[in-house]
Formats: sequence, structure tokens, C-alpha cells
Amino acid sequence: MEIRLTNTMSRKKEVFKPLREGEVGLYTCGLTVYNFAHIGNLRAYVFADTLKRMFLFNGYKVRHVMNITDVGHLTGDEDEGEDKMEAGARREGKTVWEIVNFYTKAFFDDLKRLRIIFPTVTCRATRHVDDMIEMIRKIESNGYTYIAGGNVYFDTSKLPDYGKLARLKLDEDKMRSRVESDPYKRNPFDFVLWFTRYKYDSHAMQWDSPWGRGFPGWHIECSAMSSKYLGERFDIHTGGIDHIPIHHTNEIAQSEAAFGHEWVNYWLHSEFLVIGEGEKMSKSLGNFITLQTLIDKGYDPAEYRYYLLGAHYKKQLTFTLEALDGAKSAMKKLATKIGELKESEAPVGEPNSLLLNEFHEAINDDLNTPRALAVLWKVVDSEDLRPGEKLSLIDEFDRVLALGLSEIETDVIPKEIKELANQRDQVRRDRDWKKADELRELISEKGYEVLDERDGYKIRKK
Ligand code: AMP
Ligand code: ZN
Repeated sequence: MEIRLTNTMSRKKEVFKPLREGEVGLYTCGLTVYNFAHIGNLRAYVFADTLKRMFLFNGYKVRHVMNITDVGHLTGDEDEGEDKMEAGARREGKTVWEIVNFYTKAFFDDLKRLRIIFPTVTCRATRHVDDMIEMIRKIESNGYTYIAGGNVYFDTSKLPDYGKLARLKLDEDKMRSRVESDPYKRNPFDFVLWFTRYKYDSHAMQWDSPWGRGFPGWHIECSAMSSKYLGERFDIHTGGIDHIPIHHTNEIAQSEAAFGHEWVNYWLHSEFLVIGEGEKMSKSLGNFITLQTLIDKGYDPAEYRYYLLGAHYKKQLTFTLEALDGAKSAMKKLATKIGELKESEAPVGEPNSLLLNEFHEAINDDLNTPRALAVLWKVVDSEDLRPGEKLSLIDEFDRVLALGLSEIETDVIPKEIKELANQRDQVRRDRDWKKADELRELISEKGYEVLDERDGYKIRKK
């Protein structure tokens, strides 16, 4: 079945054609690990995971690479401000390396809790500085750089189609404001490939390079690491929409300058999660919500995932606890219904092809997850399907939705409890009251109670 995806480069839904039959090379910009991921960041990773799961569902082999940004990302995306790692270290009175290790682990824990399949390769920027230096040398020898104020800059005026992803208008106003922010930039959109001079007194992370001791600019890591692990041309690059005008624009510029040909075939961007009137999520605004914040409030990560899947990835989503409550009650209803289905029958046979097809079409149509969820409900509520048929469809759907639907437990009394209750019944008939009481106690410890009735007994979950 055809897969259609909206390519930011063309602003159109395009039929996906892989570079290699049956395989997808996918690169996702990872987190800048100077703080916990907020739930907005996590939207970008649930999106990339759903995309990957859609390809797996279609029988593709997916090679997924995600970086971890642990150097060079300044508080302003355009080379101004302080290095985010340094800011994190100062904030917490720790070393930059402690910050990096702590928040990388926290990020991976969040991915796991959201049932995100771990990428084939996760790569830290600081472990690939040699690859970045190599790439900068290539860009330099191709004539796209200049050195000013101690830093190596990418000269955007040398690339006729610079800004094509964002359709940037390289106009006067923008030019003036950018030049003011860095007097060494020859052109307003130029950016740093390698810093040897930093605006602050010191920079903890430093490496030797042909241009002097220093550290890489933010964008070069993604170009260097993606080509290392996926080759100089690959299928899909993902990220949040904020990356379109600067980070991804500069990634394209430097990669195409280095390789001399087009670099990525499909650019996919997920929209933002906002609070209130398009308000950005940030610590300083006091609206920085992490996955742990939600868990502490009694939500399950699967409920957050369900909430995200309820909106198309290209739609801005305004976060409210009320909306999350809606997802919570939907998940609860699903759990009850699926539990009941499992009580009556195990999944049977091949899933119903018509409904499977409907689901398949929804996800292949630019990841239409709201429609995919509607198909899930149609199956759950169907009056025509047998419980076992429903369950086999739900298992299939959950390969993409990853809501843990296949793992939902039934309310059926476990075999072990039934056996204990049966034993108790036997010893009661033998009038061994002491043993009967012990067994009742044991059953109770396991979370069940036995209710004696005139002609037998009943077991109930406590
Ligand atoms: P960063 O750590 O800043 O590189 O961001 C990690 C990922 O989160 C990137 O793909 C961003 O585009 C994305 N992102 C940042 N803020 C939000 C938000 N509020 N909603 C959705 N995605 C976001
Ligand atoms: Zn990136």
C-alpha cells in the first residue's frame, strides 16, 4: 500500500519512495541534554516513533539514528547566548559532564516509559568531534567558509539555494538585525562551524582542531553523524517545526556544500505543543511540564501517548489537563473493554482484512493517527465481530499505536487463585478449619477474597 508523507521541502503530500527497496534511513534530531525533556519535546519523539512503527507495519526495515546534543547549542539558536550545557552546569553547581550524563539517562527513561522503540543508533555529539572536524575541513576545501574573530563561519552567500527548506526571504530587515548580533558575520545568515573564541570567560568542553582549540557549532553535529551512520544521502529527517528556519536550513547548507549533491529526500516536521495562547513551554514561565510531572499527577505515560495520537502531528496542540483527562478516561474504557474481551476469548485467526485495511490506510495517509484511533474504537464497539476477532485486530493496531493494549490484563481470576480456592473448599469439606483459614489468608494476601455461598463459593478481586 502507498505511503504518503508531507515533505516540508515541497509543502506537499508526496508518495514515499525509498532509496533502497524495503528499507528506510531515518534521522531524528535528539534532545539538547541540559535539562529534562518537557512534554513538548516528547511530542517530537512520539511522532518519530509512530513514523517508524508505521514503516515497520508496512514491512520496511528501518535504520533509525538519533543524536544527543551535548555541546555547542547556545541559548539562542543563531550563535548567540551561552552554551546550554554550561548554563545547566552553573544552574545546578555540577560539571557539564555530570549534566550531560544525568539528563541523557533521564531522556532515555522517558522514551522507554512512552514505549518508544530505541533508535538503531544513538550518538552523542561530544563523541563525534573528529567526524565534525573532518566535515568542516571538507566544507572549507570546497570553498564555503571564512575565518573571522577566531571562529570558522559558513558563508551562506556561496550557496545559491540557501534557505530553500524554510523558503527564507533574505531581506534587508533580517539582515540588519542579524549583522548587529555578530559583527564578524559577513552575511546575516552565516553561522559558526567552529568556535575558538567564546563570548564567555571559559568553555569547559574544548578540543584541538586545525583552526585552534575550541568547540563545534550546533548544526554540524547532525550533518556529520547522520552521514556517518546513514550515508551521504538518506531518506527521512525529522524534527520539530522550530528547526526549519535555522537548524535544518543550516544542516542542509553545510551537508550539500560538503557532499556536492542533495542530501535528504523527505523532511518531516511535527508541530508544537503549546500552553494557552501559543505560549512556549519554558522553565522561566513556570509551565515546564515533564513526563514525571504527569506521572506524579496520576497519569500513565500511555495516556499521554493516546492524547498525542488524538491530534495529527502537523496540528498545533494546546495542552490542558482537561484534554489529558479525556485521554485518561478513553484509555480506562479501552482497558475495561479489552479486559472483557480477553475474558471471553483469546485472539483468533487472521485479523479482519477490511478493518485492518482501514487502519492501514489511515496511518499510511501522512500518519493520520486520529483516524487510526477512530478505527480502533469502531472495532472495540463493533456488534458484528467476535471478541477473539476484535483482539487480533487490536494487537495489530497496537504495533503502531504502542498504547500497551496487547498487555492489558483481564479481570479473569488467575488459575493459581482458583486452585487455592478449590483446595480450601476441599479442606472445609474435611472440616479442617485451621487449614481453610490459612488458605483464605493466603488468597487474601494475593489480592482476592473467597465468599462462601449456600451451594459453593465465589472468588472476587479485593
Ligand atoms: P531541543 O532539545 O531544543 O533540540 O528540542 C528537542 C526536540 O523538541 C526538537 O525536535 C524540537 O523541535 C522539539 N520541540 C521543542 N519544543 C517543542 C514544543 N513545545 N512542542 C513540540 N516539540 C518541541
Ligand atoms: Zn539536528
